[in-house]
Amino acid sequence: MTDSEKRSFRSQPSVCPFCGVGCGIEYHPSSGTARGWPAPVNRRGEICPKGAAAFDAVDDDERLTEPLVRDGGRLVKSSWKEAFRRIVEAYSTFLHEDGADALAFFASSNCTNEENYLLQKVARLLGTNNIDNCARLCHSSTVAAMQARFGLGAMTNTLEDLKDADVYFIIGANPAEQHPIIFRSYLLPAIRNGTDLVHIDPRQNDTTRPASLHLPVRPGYDIPLLNSIAATIVDEGLHDEAFVHDRTSGFDEFRSFLEEVDIEENAALSGVDADDLRRAAHLYGEAERAAIITGMGMSQHHCGTDNVHALLNLALLTGNIGKPGVGVNPLRGQNNVQGASDVGALPDVLPGYQSVLDDEARARIADEWGVEPPSTPGLTEVELTHRFGDDIRGAYVFGENPIVTEPNANRVADAFDSLEFLVVHDIFRTETAEYADVVLPGSTWAEKAGTVTNTDRQVMRMRTNADLPGNARRDLDIIRELGSRLTDLEFNYDEPAAVFEEITRVSPIYAGMTYDGIGTASQRWPYPKDASSGVGILHVDEYESGDERATLVPIEHVNPVDSIDDDELVLTTGRVLQHFNSGAVTRRSGVLMRMRSEDVLQIHPDDAFDRGISDGDTVQVENDRGSVTIQVDVTPAIRRGTVFATFHYADPLINTLVPDELDSVAKIPEYKHTATRVTLVTDS
Ligand code: SF4
Repeated sequence: MTDSEKRSFRSQPSVCPFCGVGCGIEYHPSSGTARGWPAPVNRRGEICPKGAAAFDAVDDDERLTEPLVRDGGRLVKSSWKEAFRRIVEAYSTFLHEDGADALAFFASSNCTNEENYLLQKVARLLGTNNIDNCARLCHSSTVAAMQARFGLGAMTNTLEDLKDADVYFIIGANPAEQHPIIFRSYLLPAIRNGTDLVHIDPRQNDTTRPASLHLPVRPGYDIPLLNSIAATIVDEGLHDEAFVHDRTSGFDEFRSFLEEVDIEENAALSGVDADDLRRAAHLYGEAERAAIITGMGMSQHHCGTDNVHALLNLALLTGNIGKPGVGVNPLRGQNNVQGASDVGALPDVLPGYQSVLDDEARARIADEWGVEPPSTPGLTEVELTHRFGDDIRGAYVFGENPIVTEPNANRVADAFDSLEFLVVHDIFRTETAEYADVVLPGSTWAEKAGTVTNTDRQVMRMRTNADLPGNARRDLDIIRELGSRLTDLEFNYDEPAAVFEEITRVSPIYAGMTYDGIGTASQRWPYPKDASSGVGILHVDEYESGDERATLVPIEHVNPVDSIDDDELVLTTGRVLQHFNSGAVTRRSGVLMRMRSEDVLQIHPDDAFDRGISDGDTVQVENDRGSVTIQVDVTPAIRRGTVFATFHYADPLINTLVPDELDSVAKIPEYKHTATRVTLVTDS
């Protein structure tokens, strides 16, 4: 009998471990797979193929079940005692010789609020703010721009009220594949009832199918497009004069800026038809309620923060803020990317987005912890990796796979190679674990309890559906032991509820929530005493910043990092329905076996013809940073001059090609615009 056959499973209402929608799932005894339950988001218990396959990883033969330590160059089985002894020995040496900033902590956007909270607490108790999570790689630019303009970097509206929109303006997102339950249960029914969909994306995909209008924007040229839409709105008097007067500032300067915008020129630069651009402006500007829904196509640029600023101008010009069916709504990727950031797994803010520079916030936290967190902001994820082997000597990577997910992967591999001591805490022996000195076997979503926070700010509870395999441990227990061994403090939290209580005491946005009160429902932040389940629509009478007005900001176009030679194509990337992020979990599931056909490079027929490439051929995609080999799908769905591939695979490792320059504000990489040469390797 195998270990997995001996394990026991039970049905308890939990939350899907994949995307930020946060559907309720649980164990289904008769099928041995996951089933939906009527939860706050998926109220009819509906789930997508990823959610249905969520138990595949739980019960996988490749699970890590014992700690591993590196001996003689190889990772070998170890006891927990020896694994922790080595961690304490190495980290203590670095702390003693170079101080806490010689350490880096990567938290996990698909683990619970409690686990992320405790990991950032460990880092800060040791004396460093070098803690980040992979929100850095997906929506940090969105958060930066929204925080600067509105005071909060999260969905302004709720999934529920988005059903009231007259127009959806979906830009750089593909919810039909990446957030399937949002698309099927919230957006599509409204579209069928007459809501218009404007889809702005370099390729046609499943989201485009029901669209009234598709603008196939050239990657890296969103700002000229958005400025031209703003210029059309103002020029044709489609802006909301009362809202602009009462709730914005800087209109005169912004209008002067827009008067200089050449719509024909910008449309050509953005690669869209000028009449279509004007039509998009009319659809958005004339709607009573228009909702912007945005994704990584906007945020993952070295000018990602500026992209989002240009987008926010549209909502402010037209008064699409502070009521049902409007707003600016970033769809968060992983199931707890929102929560990991909320609870302080970021280098510049403490739990609840309180700046590390804020003396009063640090003092309040010191009252709870007994130790004041450091006041110098730490480094972000990619900045930390770039310093490995230099002033960063040790790292702790929890539930992330940066060898696959970070840009310029060859440079990332060299950086990990140069690190003196790496701990990887995960459920599989990931590509990153191959560089580790100690590997700690953690728990899957089904083997733990705690809270996660979904894309529309709802805090929900996960519950245990399976016991642990072998000597794997609950993630919370591992981080508790790490904290108590590395610091002088006790980490006496019996259960996640005790950690959640502490979060509500130190994080103003979670204040007043209770673990029991969440139950099988949700509590949404902000959570003032007079709102029974939290505030749904933000910025109604004033912005969360406390200001009555938000500024309209002129945004100039910034050229992409890579210039494109005549023989080159622009590589852009995204997700597909069947997989998730680095694929560390989904690559091992049965879903992959059925859908391998998605592992291709999409290329336009004209670009393929120019290179003598036919559908199904194998091509080499290369630039100065690296090279990958991949099969092609010749399709007019992708715009000419652009190729598309997913980033889910370690082979081919698409991020090998991606530049590592960062947005100057949010430090997000430029994943969506990479210069490549595509050449035929073999005929199909
Ligand atoms: Fe899970 Fe997202 Fe699918 Fe819902 S939509 S089942 S949260 S992957």
